[in-house]
Amino acid sequence: MEKVFSVSGYQSLLKTALDAGYTFVFFNEPAPPGKSCLLRHDIDNDLDAAMKIAEVEFQLGVKSTFFVMLRSPVYNLFGRHNHRCVERILELGHQLALHYDEAFYPDIDRSLQEMIEVEAEILGKMFSREIKVISFHQPGPRILKNEFKLKGFINTYDKDDMKGIFYISDSNMVWKHLPAWDLFKSATENRIQLLIHPMWWVGDGSQNTEVLWDKALLDNFNRTIDQVFETEGAFGHRRTVSIR
Ligand SMILES: [Zn+2]
Repeated sequence: MEKVFSVSGYQSLLKTALDAGYTFVFFNEPAPPGKSCLLRHDIDNDLDAAMKIAEVEFQLGVKSTFFVMLRSPVYNLFGRHNHRCVERILELGHQLALHYDEAFYPDIDRSLQEMIEVEAEILGKMFSREIKVISFHQPGPRILKNEFKLKGFINTYDKDDMKGIFYISDSNMVWKHLPAWDLFKSATENRIQLLIHPMWWVGDGSQNTEVLWDKALLDNFNRTIDQVFETEGAFGHRRTVSIR
């Protein structure tokens, strides 16, 4: 078993879960009998990494939910390349959901509930899907303490929505209790919510979080150059532009 943050490490994680008898389900599906896993991806910075992980899951017959941001500081969700990434993820049978940046309130006359409804509607209309599930980006205390009750959606941080479901996350490449491979292998939890950030899994296992963040920024930047070269006549000849 290869317990590293890499594509092969991720394949081994999924195989461990499948071998232990876990079924992968969407958040809005009823729990099947036996062991099940809600596989969640918060896409903070790189839709290309998300698409790679989606392909790996498809090869293994695993389905998951991709939570995308409308306000990512790094990517434009509706840019050509990223739009196609989302379409490919959906084609592979995965589900689309909203990753909402709770810390940003552009208009104090609008409630958090209303802002989430607006973003979910825009996202759903763009990709012709109904958005039923929300995850919060860097949730603050009122989300974590469950003081905010979101209506009309499943909230991945809501204690009632997630009742009886064990939560494990690869946040910052640190497993809080035990590595996910060991959790699945032990098969001690019947229902698991596993949060995987694809950006941590597309290196070769030797990179730290800072290196992988730089990679995500550069990959997005290079895709921007690809597009402007193809579509913007005034950009001129193909060249490498450095951001260092
Ligand atoms: Zn996030």
